[in-house]
Amino acid sequence: MRLVCFLKERKRHPGRLCAGCVCIALSLVLSACGSLVKTYTGTDLLMGTVLSMKVESGDGDPWEELTSMGQDLETRELSWRIEASEVGRINASAGDPEGLELSPEMEEILTQCLAVSEESGGAFDITLGALTQLWDLDRAALKMQEAGSSADPEGFTYTPPSDEEVQAALARCGYERVRIEEHRIYLPEGMRIDLGAVGKGIFLGRAAEALQEAPISGTISAGGSILTLGNKNRSEPSEPWNIGIVDPTDPSQLAGAIPVPGGSFVSTSGDYERYVEADGVRYHHLLDPHTGYPVGVKRPASGGAEANFAVTIVCTDGLLSDALSTACFVIANDPARGPQQARELAERFGAQMYLVGADGIL
Ligand code: ADP
Ligand code: MG
Repeated sequence: MRLVCFLKERKRHPGRLCAGCVCIALSLVLSACGSLVKTYTGTDLLMGTVLSMKVESGDGDPWEELTSMGQDLETRELSWRIEASEVGRINASAGDPEGLELSPEMEEILTQCLAVSEESGGAFDITLGALTQLWDLDRAALKMQEAGSSADPEGFTYTPPSDEEVQAALARCGYERVRIEEHRIYLPEGMRIDLGAVGKGIFLGRAAEALQEAPISGTISAGGSILTLGNKNRSEPSEPWNIGIVDPTDPSQLAGAIPVPGGSFVSTSGDYERYVEADGVRYHHLLDPHTGYPVGVKRPASGGAEANFAVTIVCTDGLLSDALSTACFVIANDPARGPQQARELAERFGAQMYLVGADGIL
């Protein structure tokens, strides 16, 4: 109110505006409008993928807090590439009969992941480290992108591992052989944990917790996972957010959009996200733990079919949305299991699954 009066006064006597008045006006704006709502955006790299934010906040810009939280999460807890991270230390403890004490946060992460492994019949498995390092598809996809095209004679050429190598790495995997007892983990010799399938979901879960009291609305995305915050439309609180879903048959297009309420986590897994092509086979970064090969690629890797579907999961837990999108992707594209089993898995965790394929979003 006082601010409006001041502005009217300013209109009547524009010449009288002085530095002191500007200061008073500014402090009035800041005090009267503790809830001054502004739009903030940001884009950066996190966990080898793109982190981006677009929010309206009445509490300042959350970007700095988000990015430093993400970097801490990656370097101190989740990255297997960093020896000093908790996952790095767990991996170094493999084969130690004494095991390793877990932080409460890591114990919760691993327990949730192992529950998804169990329920998915092993389609989701965080012990695939030996295999993911052998295929090295995240890095290969990046190199191939940098080189331009596989047809480029100067460019990067991917050589898939031999079937013997795949079987040897597969023998070092298997969530059933991990023991967690009395807050300690016992990892068998040679086994390596890889939390790549849930890192972005865990990050978004922490972001939602950090921002839960803040007057904020918008979206934060990390790789294939998105968090919706608050109301899309303040005057129409029931209006949902519309999240665009990439068409896996032509990733430059959207297959459509799905409506989700604020406070949702939406994760998509597809074979178009990170892959390299060699000899007509698409080697992508989502592996079938039963074969040791990228989902849809036949063993041995002499030929292969592409995965038929991408999968999108909507749920109220960040880690679960990410874990389930990977698990449901593996199951939906397994000819012996199929989309219906994938949908049932999502429902058992209170999540919704969308199948995205040549027929659009189902
Ligand atoms: P994106 O990283 O593209 O969002 P995901 O969240 O599905 O995709 O995670 C892919 C990563 O998960 C891979 O790079 C690999 O590290 C790991 N991974 C691959 N296959 C599996 C699987 N079947 N179960 C668990 N983790 C997997
Ligand atoms: Mg995932």
